[in-house]
Amino acid sequence: MEDLREKYEVVIGLEVHAQLKTNTKIFAPDGCEFGNEQNTQISPITLGMPGVLPVLNRAVVDMGILTGLALNCEIAHKCKFDRKQYFYPDLPKGYQISQYDEPICGKGYLMVNGKKIGITRAHLEEDAGKLVHAGADGLAGSSYSLVDLNRAGTPLLEIVSEPDMRSPQEAREYMEELRNIVRYVGVCDGNLEEGSMRCDANISIMPKGSNKFGTRAEIKNVNSFKALERALEYEIDRQIELVEDGEEVVQETRLWDDNAGVTRSMRGKEDAHDYRYFPEPDLMPLEISQEWIDRVKATMPELPEQKRQRYMDLGLSEYDASVIVAQYELAMFFDEVLKAGGNPKIAVNFLMGEVAAYLKEQKLSINETKLTPENLVELIGLIEKATISNNIGKQIIVEMMETGEKASAIVEKKGLSQISDTGAIKEIAQKIIDANPSQVEAYRGGKDKLFGFFVGQVMKETKGRANPQSVNQILKELLG
Ligand code: ADP
Ligand code: MG
Repeated sequence: MEDLREKYEVVIGLEVHAQLKTNTKIFAPDGCEFGNEQNTQISPITLGMPGVLPVLNRAVVDMGILTGLALNCEIAHKCKFDRKQYFYPDLPKGYQISQYDEPICGKGYLMVNGKKIGITRAHLEEDAGKLVHAGADGLAGSSYSLVDLNRAGTPLLEIVSEPDMRSPQEAREYMEELRNIVRYVGVCDGNLEEGSMRCDANISIMPKGSNKFGTRAEIKNVNSFKALERALEYEIDRQIELVEDGEEVVQETRLWDDNAGVTRSMRGKEDAHDYRYFPEPDLMPLEISQEWIDRVKATMPELPEQKRQRYMDLGLSEYDASVIVAQYELAMFFDEVLKAGGNPKIAVNFLMGEVAAYLKEQKLSINETKLTPENLVELIGLIEKATISNNIGKQIIVEMMETGEKASAIVEKKGLSQISDTGAIKEIAQKIIDANPSQVEAYRGGKDKLFGFFVGQVMKETKGRANPQSVNQILKELLG
């Protein structure tokens, strides 16, 4: 299969639905919080009762504009809503209000590893409800499904990319960067598992060197970055096999089965005309003035790209800056540390070292530990003042994460402050020299490497508390 892959070029375009973090729904006053008791956020508008009318939520438009600006999109001064008709049990009206030919955001782009990935458009629409199938939620053995309409009418921004990606890895990186952006601008929590960010991946293959795209398959149900990459890898092999066997790839929607690791045909792909789109008669066209756009623009927070650059200007490596920015909570924490005057390089060493290892092992985000930015800054201060060594800092940071105690309190309680008293260090060094006559002889006979042995012994004796510079200096003096 690897050889065959050399013959083909892969083309990928993603449609990403981001659930907008508004307090209320796009056309109704119900709340749209995740995880509430079923069917408790269902006004007559959400239920599509006769005679009710939708009212557009202004916050949804603000968030659409803000995201569009962050994605370098043209913002439409005039757009409208359309009805997209289809039947689904969790879609009470029998149609979805979406935007068809006049979306709120036009062309834009996103930089992914220095490459420009085009954004075709982004449009606003309402989400459907949810079906709870037999077997789930304690309904084992039952042969029916229940409908939960809490999610119906939740605002979504569908962001459609150009078919600009050329590998599953690039598609994942695009999706990660997009998630980063919606989180940093604060419009979506980007939680793939809870479905607040969902992705349909379109993929086709064509012979290398060709400029005529092949027929695409659309893959649904990918709800993690890993699943996205795996599903696309699987699909490449499937499509190559078809083409090599002289068969054709059909345009269809396929479902990714994460357990089985395969995509399965779900339905033939509908064309736009199947939906019988027409302008939503219950809503006025939306006019967005330049003032409105400017007002939203003024609230734009720092974007990931800018944050990375700022961190690099502080002396962080590109790698460290990228790793921190890729983890929203960690970046926010790091910003607080900087604000409180913490030394960036020492802070990063902790965050990328002991803290990252602990978070990974415990499967926690930094907010779920008891470490506060202020406490980390205090710890850094102790190291800078040489009250404790860097090593002691590494030893106590886990305790700080677990108990929320201040570094100075732990240092005091455990007697960990650094020994800078040269008299005391000299005494210990002499003791170790006396106890190891053969090593002393070898060292003096030219085995320079043994110096590290003596340093290690003094450190061991002082439980790592001796000031390393003093230890070096004193041993040099005593060993001659
Ligand atoms: P639909 O709603 O019918 O899926 P959209 O225009 O919303 O159509 O989305 C089409 C998506 O498929 C876009 O992300 C686009 O980049 C991608 N795409 C289009 N043609 C191809 C192709 N030949 N191979 C891979 N992706 C494609
Ligand atoms: Mg699609």
